[in-house]
Amino acid sequence: MKGMRGRFLGKLKSISAISTLKQGLVFHDNTFNQYFQTPQLTTNIKDEDNFRSHVSLKEMEKNVSIPEKADSHLLFEFEEKCPPGGNDSVIFYTTSLRGIRKTFEDCNTIRFLLGSFQVLYDERDVSMHMEFREELWRTLGAKVIPPRLFIKGRLIGGVEEVVGLHEEGKLEELLSGIPKSPTSGPCKGCGGMRFVLCSSCNGSRKVAVDEVDESDIPLSISCVECNENGLVKCPVCF
Ligand SMILES: [Zn+2]
Ligand SMILES: [Zn+2]
Repeated sequence: MKGMRGRFLGKLKSISAISTLKQGLVFHDNTFNQYFQTPQLTTNIKDEDNFRSHVSLKEMEKNVSIPEKADSHLLFEFEEKCPPGGNDSVIFYTTSLRGIRKTFEDCNTIRFLLGSFQVLYDERDVSMHMEFREELWRTLGAKVIPPRLFIKGRLIGGVEEVVGLHEEGKLEELLSGIPKSPTSGPCKGCGGMRFVLCSSCNGSRKVAVDEVDESDIPLSISCVECNENGLVKCPVCF
């Protein structure tokens, strides 16, 4: 009993803003109210014995973890891993390198599924832009290979997970609330590639300077406008 009590108190203490939490639960969560039918109990949450007799640790945890947002509860079963800018959107890491056929096909499979639900998603092709690869690795804390799908800051997974969820009819639920993709076709600026050729170096990654070396050969410096592939983000859609 002591152990349980200690653990529970520890849990309460670990939540720094306990009064905010209490308010949040009392005012926003009806399921919590059913455990506290008298006003006295709701105001005297520190009365641990009363508290424990009314709500088990498990139920408490369950209530605490329900956020106020009306997102699908299913979403909260997935690990919180949020790539940059991915809080409220769908981020899909892919590669267009065909070196490993399975990887390429796995990306196509998920792209096809997202397309069939006609949702807006941000595709980040790691072979087009090294920064994408680095942010994916940073987000997951490991050197993973695409595809990886994130919905609203949660890691959904790779092709096995996504296809499995689709077969169980859960992918649609996870994508609920995501804006529909525009039907006006691909971006006019880049044809949907998200990147365009750098106009400073024409993709060569080198820019000539007005100087020559000892052999009269014009000197050039690395272009600072573009990424490692001589590409810049599409000014229209990025
Ligand atoms: Zn350039
Ligand atoms: Zn574009």
